[in-house]
Amino acid sequence: MHHGIKKLLLLGAGHAHVEVLARLAQGRPGNLDVTVLTPYPHQTYSGMTPGFVAGHYSEDDCRIALEPLMRAAGARWVQGRCNGIDAEQRLVAVQPSGGAQGAPASLTYDLLSIDTGAVLDRARLEAGMPGAATHALPIRPIEAFTTFWPQVMELAQARAVSLAVVGAGAGGIELVFAAEQAIRLNGHAGARFTLITGGPEVATGYAPGVQRRVLRQLKRRGITVLREACTGVSEGELRLANGARLACDVPLLAIGTHAPAWLHDSGLALSEEGHVQVNKFLQSTSHANVFAAGDVANRSDQIHPRSGVYAVRAGPPLAHNLLAAHENQPLKAHHPPRHSLNLLSCGTRHAIASYGPLHLEGAWVWWWKDRIDQGFMARYRR
Ligand SMILES: Cc1cc2nc3c(=O)[nH]c(=O)nc-3n(C[C@H](O)[C@H](O)[C@H](O)COP(=O)(O)OP(=O)(O)OC[C@H]3O[C@@H](n4cnc5c(N)ncnc54)[C@H](O)[C@@H]3O)c2cc1C
Repeated sequence: MHHGIKKLLLLGAGHAHVEVLARLAQGRPGNLDVTVLTPYPHQTYSGMTPGFVAGHYSEDDCRIALEPLMRAAGARWVQGRCNGIDAEQRLVAVQPSGGAQGAPASLTYDLLSIDTGAVLDRARLEAGMPGAATHALPIRPIEAFTTFWPQVMELAQARAVSLAVVGAGAGGIELVFAAEQAIRLNGHAGARFTLITGGPEVATGYAPGVQRRVLRQLKRRGITVLREACTGVSEGELRLANGARLACDVPLLAIGTHAPAWLHDSGLALSEEGHVQVNKFLQSTSHANVFAAGDVANRSDQIHPRSGVYAVRAGPPLAHNLLAAHENQPLKAHHPPRHSLNLLSCGTRHAIASYGPLHLEGAWVWWWKDRIDQGFMARYRR
């Protein structure tokens, strides 16, 4: 390292890091050397993924091209995944991806920022739902899901399929609506759709009025709701906790995610569930030169949901604090909102909006969501 030059390493190109890159593109300190370690040349925006499934958007519409953004920020791209951090040695282990040649085995840093999202841990998934890792298609990583989706459509065009989505949170609800829309319009007639909640009502955590609206839309589209846990998956079949078996050609998983296993031995302070513990400055509570945001992080001082909305909101303060930390300037506290606007798309160009106890729905809500999503994408297109 040259005298006075500091290395900033960004892990992942999630919602907060694209904002950090955009901020660096406006002006990067000459003595800051920036590297991004991330596996794909694009960031797939989850908010528009159900719209891709429904046929409203192309794959490209849902992608932020990272290379132009990194180039504008003067950042170097290492194509790969982090698979270990040694916070004492300031070292990140690299697993190359995408057939990348010449990726280093490890990267060093002075300042580290983590925005790699949450993962579906295959070992934990398999323990809770045997067969799922082999026979089901998980929504994460989204890049893999969007690559496989055209094959689901091919099958659905060849014959009447039975499709089930396991997980009835926002992602699962949007996914089953979107799949129903796509297959009803372009698939073989007679397809069946099921949403498996795991036990509770659909859209747990939302106001009862939102749940009623979701249930009404599900009924209108002939989507069956099963309030049971899925306990296993095999070829052509799902097993449920009540002993029932459900014939299923296309099992999709939109269940809760986990913290990445590679954080365990990092030496960073972690929450009970294994997420990076951060303070109000989005700074690790154990290592002042490490920051984290999005689904991989956990605020030690307050609880808020893990969602794209919160990851996006963390972008500007994260960008500010990384530059402030580099320049030994005071950090700014990030105050996440108590409520966030949630917009659930229902497959057709119809959506349900909720904000705390308030809720509304209609075609105009879908249009509103589309404007917000397109606006987000436009900010990062170069
Ligand atoms: C179908 C679906 C729809 C959703 N819709 C909404 C919505 O409408 N509103 C909302 O608020 N939330 C929504 N969510 C939730 C939202 O997707 C997540 O909360 C959000 O993506 C978290 O953002 P993030 O920045 O933490 O990580 P991500 O967006 O997951 O980005 C992580 C980045 O890190 C990279 N990466 C991953 N692993 C590694 C590694 N080991 N090393 C280096 N890089 C890595 C990835 O390639 C990616 O670039 C939805 C989720 C799903 C599944």
